[in-house]
Amino acid sequence: MAAVPFAWGWGLGWVDVGLAAFFYTLTCLGVTVGFHRYFTHGAFKARRGLRIALASVGSMAMQGPVVGWVADHRRHHAYADREGDPHSPWRFGTTPAALVKGFWHAHMGWMFEREKTNAVRFAPDLLADRDIQRVDRLFPVLTVVTLLAPAVLGGLITMSWWGAVTAFFWASLVRVALLHHVTWSVNSICHMIGDRPYEARDKSANFWPLAIASMGESWHNSHHADPTCARHGVRRGQLDISARVIWVFEKLGWASKVRWPKPERFERKLKAATNQA
Ligand SMILES: [Zn+2]
Ligand SMILES: [Zn+2]
Repeated sequence: MAAVPFAWGWGLGWVDVGLAAFFYTLTCLGVTVGFHRYFTHGAFKARRGLRIALASVGSMAMQGPVVGWVADHRRHHAYADREGDPHSPWRFGTTPAALVKGFWHAHMGWMFEREKTNAVRFAPDLLADRDIQRVDRLFPVLTVVTLLAPAVLGGLITMSWWGAVTAFFWASLVRVALLHHVTWSVNSICHMIGDRPYEARDKSANFWPLAIASMGESWHNSHHADPTCARHGVRRGQLDISARVIWVFEKLGWASKVRWPKPERFERKLKAATNQA
């Protein structure tokens, strides 16, 4: 990002910024609203068109095909921060050296050394869905689309090859990399640092600095306290853009049976001041 001030006007312009922001928002919501809250946790019901759109747009984040993503994440919740969790930062222990190693493992190392999650066990609902199977198989095509679409648009808007090149750099490469790090930070930072107002069996934490970039996913302690809830930022002032988008889908009639937070449920999970470590 240090390159930004130097690149301005030469290799970076408003078209690149606009395209990067657009594709970041689109694919981030595909992951947070689609892959995570809808497909993994069933926080709402979606009409067929929305279901297919969410699977496709989520795939464009290049975090892997939908079925594998969902299977991994369901396994994470089943074993959070215990043996069997695909990406716990606490895997190697609690000494400083173990935590450095654990951070790397939770952030991205787990993907290089992973045992494949059994989708038959963790995502049978998606394996039985022909629409989702089709989107899952189209992952390589959607990868090409997500990388080339910004370049094509950048070229057309500026009517230049250079415009296509800079849009490809910023709105494809940098945008995908940035979203990867934000998503990975939920797995690493949000299981290490932050507030833990709710009772959970794991080390999940609410880390406010990432609330906007992660579109609400960094309220991760609240999420582990009530995983099927459509809103993660359940408390006053906790910005949750993904929950807002689900709310819009509900108003449009595309989403139904949305699991909005039940205050009693969270109240019960609130740690009593006395047993706070
Ligand atoms: Zn988690
Ligand atoms: Zn989750």
